[in-house]
Amino acid sequence: MQALVVDDSAVYRKLVGDHLRSWGFGVTLAVSGSDAWQILQQPDSPKLVLLDWVLPDLDGIELCGRIRQAGASAPYVYVILLTSNEGRQNMLNAMQAGADDYLAKPFDEHELKARLLVGKRILDLQDELVSARESMRHAATHDSLTGLLNRGEILNMLERELERGRREHKPLGVILADIDHFKRVNDTLGHLFGDEALREIGRRLRAQLRPYDGVGRYGGEEFLLVLPNCDLPGALLRANDLRGLVASTPISFSGDELLITMSMGVTVSACEGKNEIEGLLAQADAGLYAAKEKGRNRIEHLLPVSKKVHRARKS
Ligand code: GH3
Ligand code: MG
Ligand code: MG
Repeated sequence: MQALVVDDSAVYRKLVGDHLRSWGFGVTLAVSGSDAWQILQQPDSPKLVLLDWVLPDLDGIELCGRIRQAGASAPYVYVILLTSNEGRQNMLNAMQAGADDYLAKPFDEHELKARLLVGKRILDLQDELVSARESMRHAATHDSLTGLLNRGEILNMLERELERGRREHKPLGVILADIDHFKRVNDTLGHLFGDEALREIGRRLRAQLRPYDGVGRYGGEEFLLVLPNCDLPGALLRANDLRGLVASTPISFSGDELLITMSMGVTVSACEGKNEIEGLLAQADAGLYAAKEKGRNRIEHLLPVSKKVHRARKS
């Protein structure tokens, strides 16, 4: 773990730095508060700071205050204030300014080591918490089988991008894609093959998209694609490319191989006026229904249709 030692005294910088290195810490040195502040602004700056109270420009207490102002969005910085000002009142001031710990100079090296180990433990715990929060966030927004966005998250994206398209007067392409005869795939080659087919199709769809496009698993074997700034001819071309990419290469798993196809319904939002998500999805669904009716492994788009068509496919 990297530690930042902030002290205007060369003697103390060397003393503390040498101790830290001998205990396995990496050491960054700063000679003033503003020097330290510059270092802390850089990406991947040290999270453990040993800070002298009295510094020529920005003193330790002020620097502590600045570090804490960064708030919860910034990674936590653990601050130990080192000072020759002794006394309980000083300790209270240091803690109130946001220091995590306090050590009076001249310090005992064992005590310094003990304080550092506490700091390291807290920072390690903090890292674990952050990565646990990240994996929870990922699990809440992604489909565990395919790793694509889940239904809720792709619908959130659709809503956001519709709003953005409206503001920027840009069209939004929407594709609803469904695997053909997937029940048969499961029935003939087994559920595990079916799962691998879903994963592989997810990979192929994702690989073909631009970085700002979105693809999510909308239902069992249905995928929803959101294509910002994409008009109808563009969306139809993209859908046809995706269809071709799935249909051109068989899926192999555990010694079995099968060519799987998809049908797709395509629609595009109007740049002006109101676009209801439900209306767009119903239109894409109607296109998908038509593609199934016309023999599968194809793409279709329909102009606005009544909700009857939408319901007919579901029933
Ligand atoms: P169509 O061409 O009309 O879409 O026919 P289909 O067989 O694909 O459609 P249907 O709705 O009858 O069947 C969908 C199948 O998808 C049934 C279900 O077991 C399967 N399925 C849904 N989710 C999963 C999954 O996570 N893994 C696997 N292996 N199969 C799944
Ligand atoms: Mg299907
Ligand atoms: Mg389906």
